[in-house]
Order: sequence, then C-alpha cells, then structure tokens
Amino acid sequence: MKIFWKRMLPLSLALVLSLSLSGCGGKGKEPQPTESAPVAETSTPEPTATPDPTPDPEVTTPPVPLVAWGPEQVVEHLFFHPVIAYPKWGFQDCPSSQSQKEGLDDWMVTVDEYNKILQSVYERGYVLVNMNEVWSEVTGDDGVPRMQRNTLMVPEGKKPLIISFDDTNYYDYMLEEGFTSKLVLGTDGEIWAQCTDPYTQETFLTQDLDAITILDKFIREHPDFSPNGVKGCLSLTGYQGILGYRTQNDIDIGANDPRRPAFDANRQAEIDAVKPIIARLKETGWYFGSHTWGHINLNGDRVDLAWVKRDTIRWQEEVGSLVGPTHILFYPHGARPDGDDWHKTGPKFQFLQEFGFRIFASVGINSFSYVKQDISAVICDRLHPDGTTLRGGPGGMAVGWYSQFYNAKEIIDLDVRPKLGVTWQ
Ligand SMILES: [Zn+2]
Repeated sequence: MKIFWKRMLPLSLALVLSLSLSGCGGKGKEPQPTESAPVAETSTPEPTATPDPTPDPEVTTPPVPLVAWGPEQVVEHLFFHPVIAYPKWGFQDCPSSQSQKEGLDDWMVTVDEYNKILQSVYERGYVLVNMNEVWSEVTGDDGVPRMQRNTLMVPEGKKPLIISFDDTNYYDYMLEEGFTSKLVLGTDGEIWAQCTDPYTQETFLTQDLDAITILDKFIREHPDFSPNGVKGCLSLTGYQGILGYRTQNDIDIGANDPRRPAFDANRQAEIDAVKPIIARLKETGWYFGSHTWGHINLNGDRVDLAWVKRDTIRWQEEVGSLVGPTHILFYPHGARPDGDDWHKTGPKFQFLQEFGFRIFASVGINSFSYVKQDISAVICDRLHPDGTTLRGGPGGMAVGWYSQFYNAKEIIDLDVRPKLGVTWQ
C-alpha cells in the first residue's frame, strides 16, 4: 500500500496544481480544502488499481485519509548541522580552542538532544515532506514562470515538516572534535556512519551517532513519520568534498604538475566510492541542495559577483555533477544575497536564479516564506535547533519560537555543554 501511495501522491499534487493555475502569483484564488480533497480521493482508487489475489494483513487497517494542507498554511522547516557524537570530547576534552568549543555549543546539538527533538516533533504530529514538493514553478496565463506554494496532501491530523542538514561534508575539523567521519554503505545495503572513538581511537560503523543514520533508523521504527518516504535535504559545500569523501579538485595543482596524476587518481577513487552512497541516499528519501562551494557569504562586498559566479560553477562541476540537479540553495551563514532577498532582487540573486536555483533558504525565527513576484523564486527561512536557541536566545524568547516542536528546557543537556547559562526561567 505504501508503494502505491508513493506513486500516487505526485499525481494528486499535480491535479491539485492544475486546478489552481489561474490563481498563480495572486492572492485571490487559492485552492480550498473542499476543492482539493475530492481530487485526492478520485486519484487514489486503490482497490481497483492493484488487485492482490492474496489477502494482505495491511488491507484490514483502514488507511488514514489524506487532507489538503493549503498554500496559506505554514510548512515548518527545521535545520541541523551534523550532530555531536561525543559531546564530552567536543565541549570539554578535545584540544580545540575555547572559541571552537563555544562554536559547537552555538550551532550544534548532541546526539541525545537530536534524538529527543525527533521524538518530540514526531509525537506532536509532524510528518516529513520534500521541499521540492512544497513549491514548484508554473507558467501563468501571462506566459511568465513563477514559483507557487502547492497544496500538500497529508494524513489527517498531521502537519508537514521539512528537515534540512547543513554542511554534511564531514569537514576535517569535525573529525577532531567528536563527530562521525563519513557515510558508508554497509553489507546490508543500508547507510552507516564511520566513527572513531576519540578516547580509544577505535574505528567502527554505527547508525546511532550520526544525524542521517539516526533519522533513517527513526523512520524505520516510526514509518508514519514519513508517509511518503521523504527524509531530509542535505545541504552541501564542495571545498572538502562531500559526505566524508574528498572529491574536491585542487586548482593549485596544474595540469603539468608532477603531483597531478596521483591527485587525480585519489580523487577518482573518492568519487567512485561516494557514488553508491549518493544513489542509496536518493533511493531512501534523501535529496540535495547547494550550500555554495566555498561556504561564501553572499551578503556584502567582500565576495563580489564574479566570485559568486566562479563559486557556483565550481559547485556545479564538483558537487552537482555527483548529486544531480537541484533548485535549492541554502545561504551560508544565513546571509541574504545583496543584503536583502525579500524587498529587492540584486545582481547576485539574479545570477543564482538564472543559474537554476528557485528555492532560496535562509535562517530565521519562524518558517517565513515569500514567493517573489518579480522573478521566479521563493525565499524561505528555517528554524535552527542548537545551543543558541536551546539556551533561550534574547530574553528567553526562543523557547516560545520552538514550543510547537519541543520544550527546549527538556531537550538541552546542560550537564555536558559549557557553563554558558540560559535565558529562560
Ligand atoms: Zn553552513
């Protein structure tokens, strides 16, 4: 039944979309739940489509009816960095500087905190959806393509949630600070994380210490958290390769440099090794976005337009060539191109859109999104469970911003984090 549903959902979405084309770009005519619900019903004639001669025990369980989640309803979006596998090492015992340790505290969560957050959002009725299905490009009656917020179909009583993961590159510094070191394909065909215990130097495979494998496992145990098989979006830079494989080029090694053959051979081996990981991630509901090649700050003058162009082409050559096309760009540092991507469309934004990006994600205090009217693009903010928000943010207000997902006071592990205090009561 699940496989069938997976096939039918895009169809029901497409039908809902075609109904709403005339409303494209305007506020007036949006598909109402009462319009779209019957479409979904007629597009899922399950009993006649795949008659099964043998009784299937699943058939006796009535399926949860799907209901429309309209364009006016917020699709929440949480993002994580890689999670800290060994928090005591990362926060206390590792030889990194105090500011590095506080950086981990600011922007990361520990494995235990991450597990508690997943459990909490699951219990509060969220189900995972794919960013690429939340918005899509349609051409209106005026012949101009624009992005449009789609009507999603979700199981009755559930709420859609996007999860994205920034910097899933397994940078060198993370390996020294208590994180897993790469994704690998196990003999069972599943994705595992390679990890080295920083205290014993023992290297082993695990599914319990990495954000990606933990979510895989969580969904195996709670398949209704992902009714359509969707997991998360992996936001990749390129300067230290991807997913723990050093697939990046080194342009300082010229074509005639004697080091070039050995570099190319090693790089090719890393590329060959990561391809099956990418294929398996895609098969199991993961998808990809760009985080720029060099984690560049798209705001301000230091990174000029020419730099943005070089960086974007390099991302395409070294990362896009491996993970396939994507329309999603996650701003490094959350920095909006040209200083403001909402009220204006500057030259960097224009270039990135022409290059093919349509969904531009920043960081904010809620899941704000805005379909731009002057260009086919949508900008959207994401919330960030991490030390800054778990500690409460300014005046403890972050506890409220995240209260629909979890109670920060029950999530944060103050025993292992640096003694930096909290702002909530
Ligand atoms: Zn980043």
